[in-house]
Amino acid sequence: MRLVLLGPPGAGKGTQASAITKKYNIPHISTGDIFRLNIKEGTDLGKKAKEYMDKGLLVPDDIVVSIVKDRLTKDDCKDGFLLDGFPRTVNQADALDIELEKMGFKLDKVINIDVEKDELINRAIGRRICKKCGATYHVEFNPPKQSGKCDVCGEGLYQRDDDTEETVSRRIEVYLKETKPLIDYYTKKGIILNIDGKQSIEKVYEDIVKSLE
Ligand SMILES: [Zn+2]
Repeated sequence: MRLVLLGPPGAGKGTQASAITKKYNIPHISTGDIFRLNIKEGTDLGKKAKEYMDKGLLVPDDIVVSIVKDRLTKDDCKDGFLLDGFPRTVNQADALDIELEKMGFKLDKVINIDVEKDELINRAIGRRICKKCGATYHVEFNPPKQSGKCDVCGEGLYQRDDDTEETVSRRIEVYLKETKPLIDYYTKKGIILNIDGKQSIEKVYEDIVKSLE
């Protein structure tokens, strides 16, 4: 199964990615993770990527594409993979198609976890994190037993600086603007699966598996 996973920040993509890759026994290829690892290890690629990221710029397509290409030729991708964070643009999607075709493959499905902007904002601004153990709560959907205190370790909870309505809203706007052409591209190809991400984690997962089978 060769898959791409799309979804705005806060849609629960990480959780679904773990569940899907476990079920189908395929690697989870997150370009964000690959970049972070390369930066940590100080590789040439990491240095190049960091230059752009430090300036707040997107890493150029040719660098991203060559990383993904390199990763896809690894043995564990023989029977499939789940791409996360790539492609981000129609250009990258075209490049991916070309590389897969060279390998004699094609993309099976693109899973698009769809959540409305207002819902994403509500989720983000209610999020509280434990200072000590990192456990996460939500003031409305998953409140701690005692307000402002972690159930696990009793430490105080805090709100991330960038979880304000304004920054979350901007983050989502950028994502939607960036991804819209990509969704149109895969819709035209007839391989997009639109999943209602407003449902529970379990139900979202169930819907994904059902539409893949
Ligand atoms: Zn804690």
